Amino acid sequence: MTMNGNTKELLTILENLCPDDFELIINYILNNKLMLFQSTNSIKKIVLRDNPVECCSHCGSSSFVKNGKTKKKVQKYLCKDCGKTFCATTNKTPSYSKRYYRQWHDFIEAEVDELSLRNTAMKIGISKTTAFNWRHKIHKAAENFINSFQLSGKIEIDPTYIELNFKGTRPKNMKRPSKKRKFSEYRGLSKTKVCIVCAIDENDHIVLQVAGLGKESIADYNKIKDRLSNPSLLITDQAWGFTTFAKDLNCELDQIPTTAHKSINGNTLANVSQIQKELKEYISNYHGVATKYLQGYLNMFILKKMFNYKYDYDKLSSSIFLEIINSFCILKVKDIKNIRAPYDILPIYQTC
Ligand SMILES: [Zn+2]
Repeated sequence: MTMNGNTKELLTILENLCPDDFELIINYILNNKLMLFQSTNSIKKIVLRDNPVECCSHCGSSSFVKNGKTKKKVQKYLCKDCGKTFCATTNKTPSYSKRYYRQWHDFIEAEVDELSLRNTAMKIGISKTTAFNWRHKIHKAAENFINSFQLSGKIEIDPTYIELNFKGTRPKNMKRPSKKRKFSEYRGLSKTKVCIVCAIDENDHIVLQVAGLGKESIADYNKIKDRLSNPSLLITDQAWGFTTFAKDLNCELDQIPTTAHKSINGNTLANVSQIQKELKEYISNYHGVATKYLQGYLNMFILKKMFNYKYDYDKLSSSIFLEIINSFCILKVKDIKNIRAPYDILPIYQTC
């Protein structure tokens, strides 16, 4: 976290204080800390501090003018393109929340620590439903971070599979009642497995994309095509589809024989395998994740993993907190329940 001008100036003043004045200040801070942490306005202050207004919060247009102030003296703007008014906090993750700074901060910290919704709700003093909604808002906000980088240079790609999961979907919402038969009875790469295309480049940028059901195909690799920018080398297993994919991307391909761990050029899939191992542990920590919400969990996994490379553990949750609350997130609570899997899982469900 970088220190802003005001904080730096304040620290210089504090360093030059006499001990008795210093003690007065300490008492003042302790008395006011709780008030500041429990104010709904505190979180907005951070968003205002961190977000110089560069575009319209509704349509992204850079054509806007100042348009008065809110009751709390926050600058409002009028977009010349969509005609809507907005301010720096409009459509940011905590925009419509009446909760206070400490709750959002501690919630994101609990998500980073992968606590269960029940434990998080108890710890923060919110209902399990609010915790559920916040989790999905955070996952949606993480999408901005995911879309902010592309993979380049040397890239390891390998798909992984996890079981379809209908957790939280009531049988009455399915077109016919569920049967008790378990999907895992279907062996191998049947249509009851979700394919996740995993990729990591030489700079530790990660892509995890829910691609489809069953054995991977070129169509699945193509779903991450726009996430790759000027790749120089793809390292993959021997699946045939990669030859066409590498040709399309105009880059080299190094395939590792099924019977070996290394290619003849010495390349391995060690980094992507490690990510897959950690991903499986992460998912099992949540005791299974509903397939329709899976991409959100993957987004959060990537954000956490990449911030972990960048920040020490003691700064991890604070940096993720700032990233999330400063992100645009237009996911409304009423839309969360209606999130759908990115492909039709109903026909698969009906065959089981
Ligand atoms: Zn606009």
